[in-house]
Amino acid sequence: MTTPSLPKAVAVIGAGTMGNGIAQTFATCGVQTYMVDVKQEFLDRGVATIHKSLGKFAEKGTLTADQATAAKARLIATTDMGCLREVELCVEAVTENLEVKTKVFQAADAALPAAGVLASNTSSISITVLAAKTKRADRVIGMHFMNPVPLMKLIEVIRGNDTSDATADLVIGWSKALGKVPVIANDYPGFVANRILMPMINEAAFALMEGVATREAIDEIMKLGMNHPMGPLTLADFIGLDVCVAILDVLHEGLGDDKYRACPFLRRLVHAGHLGRKTGKGFYSYNQGK
Ligand code: NAD
Repeated sequence: MTTPSLPKAVAVIGAGTMGNGIAQTFATCGVQTYMVDVKQEFLDRGVATIHKSLGKFAEKGTLTADQATAAKARLIATTDMGCLREVELCVEAVTENLEVKTKVFQAADAALPAAGVLASNTSSISITVLAAKTKRADRVIGMHFMNPVPLMKLIEVIRGNDTSDATADLVIGWSKALGKVPVIANDYPGFVANRILMPMINEAAFALMEGVATREAIDEIMKLGMNHPMGPLTLADFIGLDVCVAILDVLHEGLGDDKYRACPFLRRLVHAGHLGRKTGKGFYSYNQGK
């Protein structure tokens, strides 16, 4: 069996939690990687996160110091979408909002070469809807990486209504070449991962709101009782509470069932700006560790 090859160059749009992890993963695997965001300060933060993570991999011996240095050298951070002209694959990882993603998809569609594949890392927004905003619906696909991207094996690959077999095969090959495990899902709200995960996180927030148990007790019961690596409230802080609410809203609207309504306490934390680890506060405070 031949090892599938990777694209020579990719662009990742969005330098946040997921975008910088995806960019790091491609750069580590030898791919020229452009990371695009709207402001230099967001790019600087993304690059700093990547450098810190590569440093940790080098310390642990998972990467040699030379490999970490080479990965850094393959990364170009820019606010200019013009770099998309150079790439075979663009992975969009911007804010989980249809309006924002639509604008990015239209700009990426205009900038990419004709054969370029346009993937979204969306957690829940319809790939079919995003594809319909472009002139390349057959080359649009979901590549749902998991957080933290450099460590997590799964890529949930989502086929939109018009995604071609050739595009799906290409993306499955590239995902394997990244050392990941691609698993195919069809395009329904939340796909598989978040349709099942988010109701659990939401229920944990309701349990906390109703005083069923403390946040620590809820997490410990789920961690030890279900053999999960972390409890649902800790996981929600890690994902970002704004991302969780955005996904729940998509599930609620798309599936029309009140069982997906976001817990009011979860929404209140988002309104207060307590978005989890990324803002230093969510269900827990992270200023001096958890
Ligand atoms: P984030 O808020 O950490 O980062 C989003 C980034 O997108 C920001 O840096 C922002 O400046 C940038 N951005 C916004 N508009 C832009 C534009 N027009 N052009 C370029 N950049 C723009 O969010 P995140 O957690 O990284 O999530 C990104 C995507 O990944 C979302 O679709 C989310 O649902 C999905 N996702 C998140 C997780 C998670 O655990 N956080 C897991 C899987 C998938």
